[in-house]
Amino acid sequence: MYSTEVGPDENIVCKLDLYRGREPYLQFETDIMDRIGIDAEINTHTYEALDTQLRATKDMPLRTVHLRADPGEPFNYNFNTPDQQVARDSAYRLSELLDTYGDKARGFILHEERGGEGRMTEAEKDNYAAALSRIDGKGTLFLEYCSSDPDDWVDVISRVTSDSVSACVDIGHLYQHFRAQKGLDRDGAVERTRDVVDRVSKIGKPVHFHVHDCDMTQGHPWYGIPDHLPLGDGELGLEGIKDVIEPAYRNLGTDKVTYNIEILLRPEYSQALSKEEADDMERYAVESGKDRKEIINDAEMIKGTYESIATEVGEFREILDELSGKGA
Ligand SMILES: [Zn+2]
Repeated sequence: MYSTEVGPDENIVCKLDLYRGREPYLQFETDIMDRIGIDAEINTHTYEALDTQLRATKDMPLRTVHLRADPGEPFNYNFNTPDQQVARDSAYRLSELLDTYGDKARGFILHEERGGEGRMTEAEKDNYAAALSRIDGKGTLFLEYCSSDPDDWVDVISRVTSDSVSACVDIGHLYQHFRAQKGLDRDGAVERTRDVVDRVSKIGKPVHFHVHDCDMTQGHPWYGIPDHLPLGDGELGLEGIKDVIEPAYRNLGTDKVTYNIEILLRPEYSQALSKEEADDMERYAVESGKDRKEIINDAEMIKGTYESIATEVGEFREILDELSGKGA
């Protein structure tokens, strides 16, 4: 099931594929990640992109895989549905994916953006949990908290009987839910997020985190969302992030918890390319006939974002050290 071969201290990855596998950024991205010493959480919508990205990250033992199951896209998994046939088919296809790819990554994260409206009935939760319980394969599948009711999400996870299925706590999504949907202030939202982490980690299965900061007063320049900010740049801050993950640390120890520093690209991070990097991008512009300036701009933004993530990882390691008593 869950591999801990690489040791409990080696449990942090960061988001790969900031541009959904657009060539030639993958090579560029993995080169930078290699230099800053962090492995990837692959982010994929299709089997083809999954193969491409697994190839690009073949030397990263810590990698995890983020599967987006949006309607109409190839994965198109749907477990939160009264349609038993659709749920069974989803479990079959996802189990098959785990059998094929399960030993190639430390965990698979399912981002299922369905059923976010209102509360679920007990029968709906039972159905959802029963559908997820049919998933069986190599590796662990982490059901990400996206936008549903957090209490319902915890109930569903706790009713799942398959050992292959556990929880991915997206700190920013949860915090944002309590701020925006429930109208709580910063401290109230931190407290509630922390409580969800406590309950979901008490189930005893491995937990994966998506770690990022959130600032409700400003949206991302083109996605509009307030989260996926560098740690310390939002309302949560490093203290808030520490408060939120602490119960998982207490309930599960170090070797059942993994983290993805999930930061989005932002133009203000841009950093100048080296001569070699610029030459690669120039060559790509010529070969592909694409706009040279746009390619250079994107590459500068990607580079700066990963350099920022390198700092985040350092800060996050300090949080983990403090929690484990290793810090000052
Ligand atoms: Zn996430």
